[in-house]
Amino acid sequence: MEIDLSGYQLIAVSTSAGKDNEAMMIQMAEMARAQGVFHRLAAIHSSTGAEWICTQSVAEKIANLLSIPLYTVYPKWTIPDYIEHRMRFPDLRRRFCTSLKTEAIDKLIRQLFPAKKTAKILSVTGERREESAHRAKLAGFERCKRLTAGNREVFHYRPMLDYETGEIWTAIRKSGLPYHPAYDLGNCRLSCALCVFACDRDLRNGARNRPDLARRYLDLEEKTGFLFRCNRSLKDILAKEAA
Ligand code: SF4
Repeated sequence: MEIDLSGYQLIAVSTSAGKDNEAMMIQMAEMARAQGVFHRLAAIHSSTGAEWICTQSVAEKIANLLSIPLYTVYPKWTIPDYIEHRMRFPDLRRRFCTSLKTEAIDKLIRQLFPAKKTAKILSVTGERREESAHRAKLAGFERCKRLTAGNREVFHYRPMLDYETGEIWTAIRKSGLPYHPAYDLGNCRLSCALCVFACDRDLRNGARNRPDLARRYLDLEEKTGFLFRCNRSLKDILAKEAA
């Protein structure tokens, strides 16, 4: 679903440097250019302290090549620090890690456009329906209630909802842009190097890239008895590789 971008002072595209966000940035750059509002585009990367080592530089490279200015924001806690503070890992009902990321992006939007300033802002994110039952139900376009206040109106746009994985890769290959190296190592998804929702292969790749993070999470499992996934320990997942 293509929308009219002309009424927005800021078109803020969130990026984790993963494939879905990259395809979204390519699409938004094309759309904004065609509608004469390319100068209103900005990318925002929320740096959680739990990413692959190269993620920040990949985000910068993609944004630079697309000529989109990139803001990097930092949540008030890094995800590993907050996990240690709470002495437990996130799960489906307690996705505090996602909230940390989102809050940092929201804070930047509030700073750039305080509520007393009249502004209409578009927040663009790259969820896809095929990723989960929750994402399947998301709206393609809606008012963002948590950010709309005073004279600031914010809308949420999810242009990738109906894309399938193959279409994402077709868009990236067609662009000729580089992509995150984790995919060539077999990752199917990318965000935090060690995500409680990731498949085993992604977790093993992530632990190889961020052994420091794996050590912290393994220590926490041992200290608290809480498992990384509700029914499976990180120790068990990573041990499968050594076997
Ligand atoms: S990638 Fe996983 S661990 Fe990281 S913020 Fe998202 S849900 Fe949480």
